[in-house]
Amino acid sequence: MPRALITGITGQDGLYLGELLLSKGYEVFGLIRGQNNPKRELVETTLPGITLLTGDLTDLSSLMRALQASQPDEIYNLGAISFVAYSWENASLTTDVTGKGVLNMLEAARMYAGDDVSGIRFYQASSSEMFGKVQQVPQSEETLLWPRSPYGVAKVFGHYMTINYRESYGMHASSGILFNHESPRRGPEFVTRKVSQAVARISLGLQDEIVMGNLDAKRDWGFAGDYVEAMWRMLQQPTADDYVISTGETHSIRELLDHAFAAVGIEDWSGYVRQDPAFMRPAEVDLLIGDASKARDVLGWTPTVSFPELVKMMVESDVHEQKASATR
Ligand code: GDP
Repeated sequence: MPRALITGITGQDGLYLGELLLSKGYEVFGLIRGQNNPKRELVETTLPGITLLTGDLTDLSSLMRALQASQPDEIYNLGAISFVAYSWENASLTTDVTGKGVLNMLEAARMYAGDDVSGIRFYQASSSEMFGKVQQVPQSEETLLWPRSPYGVAKVFGHYMTINYRESYGMHASSGILFNHESPRRGPEFVTRKVSQAVARISLGLQDEIVMGNLDAKRDWGFAGDYVEAMWRMLQQPTADDYVISTGETHSIRELLDHAFAAVGIEDWSGYVRQDPAFMRPAEVDLLIGDASKARDVLGWTPTVSFPELVKMMVESDVHEQKASATR
């Protein structure tokens, strides 16, 4: 039975990846942070059979202990402080966790593997935020990185450190440059879930309006369930490499609002949406569109859920959730 350790198990991708690996017969271990983590119960009910280990990406010895306990064949480093807007207010902490945390995990893996690093495979969750002030459209593995937020800068550090461990020690360390990926499990601070939750509540008469930031921002949004499949495929390759994972389509926040309101039968949403500078960012990334042709050619990976389907799935799930909580 192959064994996998996932950091960031409480997040959207950790849950989807955990489900995928359990369905493939893996023994799955998840790293969970802190005492009385409020998400422990969610992980235990979503992923029955998983073993949770306590540790923190900023604490090297806790990572060493987690590796000793789990003895993994594959490590998926998904743990990070991942909300871009928050990263300006907490740049130093974001750097410690999202950036230096990657080095800690790589170093723990190298020490754990000893003389033979070939026994371990490592996945680093890199991000399209690394392209920031984009130098090329669409963005591929070759595009020059130009991050535009402390989060993006920290992810660039982790990305290059992963490549460095591959080149310095011959570690099977791959980096997935994932464009935005969403689902009903996305945190409500991200714009897709913020909109799907608010639209569900508006349709049920529980809320009057949504207060938004920049409606002209655009993203290449895919479905998280598709994206974790790409992570797993990267680690099954004979050699490690870097891959862009994206849909190749870009949509604006306005289009997101169009699809979300249409899912509850509202065509004109102008009366429900208000803009507030509080949700604007000090700097925005430019036109993010990924070129995932390498992933398609080498990994045989393509997305299966379209943007309208994704938005509809999220709104319907939130309508269901809001109705359930109203009757509780
Ligand atoms: P990100 O790509 O990781 O930053 O994902 P987000 O979902 O947080 O933001 C996506 C885009 O939506 C950014 O360009 C934001 O400026 C824009 N946006 C507009 N209004 C909002 C809002 O109310 N909340 C968030 N989170 N983003 C917003």
